[in-house]
Amino acid sequence: MNAAAVFPRKRDAGVIPFEPPKISAPTEVKLRMLDVGVCGTDKEIAAFEYGTPPPGYEYLVIGHESLGEAVEVGPAVSRVKPGDLVVPMVRRPCPHEGCTGCRSGRQDFCFTGDYRERGIKGLHGFMTEFVVDDEQYMNVVPRELRDVAVLVEPLTIAEKALIQVGLIQQRLPWGCPPFRDRDGRYCHRAVVLGAGPVGLLGAMALAHAGFETFVYSKSPKPNTKADLVESFGARYIATETVTVEQMAAEVGNIDLVYEAVGASPLAFEVLKFLGANGVFVFTGVPGHGQPVQIDTDVIMRNLVLSNQVVLGTVNAGREAFEAAIRDLGMFTQRWPQAVRSLITGRYPMEGFRDLVSGNAGGIKNVIAVSGTT
Ligand code: BGC
Repeated sequence: MNAAAVFPRKRDAGVIPFEPPKISAPTEVKLRMLDVGVCGTDKEIAAFEYGTPPPGYEYLVIGHESLGEAVEVGPAVSRVKPGDLVVPMVRRPCPHEGCTGCRSGRQDFCFTGDYRERGIKGLHGFMTEFVVDDEQYMNVVPRELRDVAVLVEPLTIAEKALIQVGLIQQRLPWGCPPFRDRDGRYCHRAVVLGAGPVGLLGAMALAHAGFETFVYSKSPKPNTKADLVESFGARYIATETVTVEQMAAEVGNIDLVYEAVGASPLAFEVLKFLGANGVFVFTGVPGHGQPVQIDTDVIMRNLVLSNQVVLGTVNAGREAFEAAIRDLGMFTQRWPQAVRSLITGRYPMEGFRDLVSGNAGGIKNVIAVSGTT
């Protein structure tokens, strides 16, 4: 069978022959891979800026946003049966006894940094025809979501953030009154930075959770992303024509910022305008750019005088996968067209080099893996 691989040392990438995996433990499941999404992390790996092959390999099979179909299950598997659609989780625990995160099944909160991630760090990924893994890392997805379930993994980023924000905001009376305010507005306002797949899925999750949602992204209207944002009831504001200060004045009290742009200068500029009792969530992993000047006095004063929280979040645990599967089902009922239009292209595996080099355009591009070998 074939797999899409990156060779960091040789600075090369291509489709290579790859030994088909076999079930070797009673709790393992074999998946035939259907769809594998391409994201910013894959692009960084293919640019040799990120990613680590497994020990003993000079290449890394990439792909971590995925959807497969169970074709074989070990004798002790109880939650997955052949024919089920499955989205596997990405991160695997570190081996250290003392890591309370990994030892309690929350490797997304690993303390040691020795976790592994399929398709990213120390383990081969999912852009291949068959994959074997333990059932504890698998999430069964309803058949109706076949066409869009590859969006589950990127949606888990937002779901984990929302779960975390919910826990954090228990620190204060954050509930909404059961009415909109005098201007007909909802009580909590969220600003999403960036209109890539993580930003757009985050905006949908926030709109669905009842936030008045604003997406602050580069290009002025009209454009397809702005239309998409407005189709699910959020508002679109362009960074090119509206300054951060003007945007903040338009939004009102910014209760939540969901950063999904990976650009730190814009993010820290927006942090200056976070509202009273607000939470700023960072999800991007920026490269190493030039240092920038930021007004630390303003930020520190606001953090203290307005009870603010700055939060970073990475990867996701089972509860976020379950929330993502449930919410993706809700989104497809509420906004079927918008969800479908997030996936802008499906390509054969050989197309992965063009997709990771960033030439393809579109929002979320997917490798439709052939399962016939
Ligand atoms: C993946 C996460 C992963 C992170 C850092 C993201 O693209 O969605 O699962 O933890 O990269 O490697």
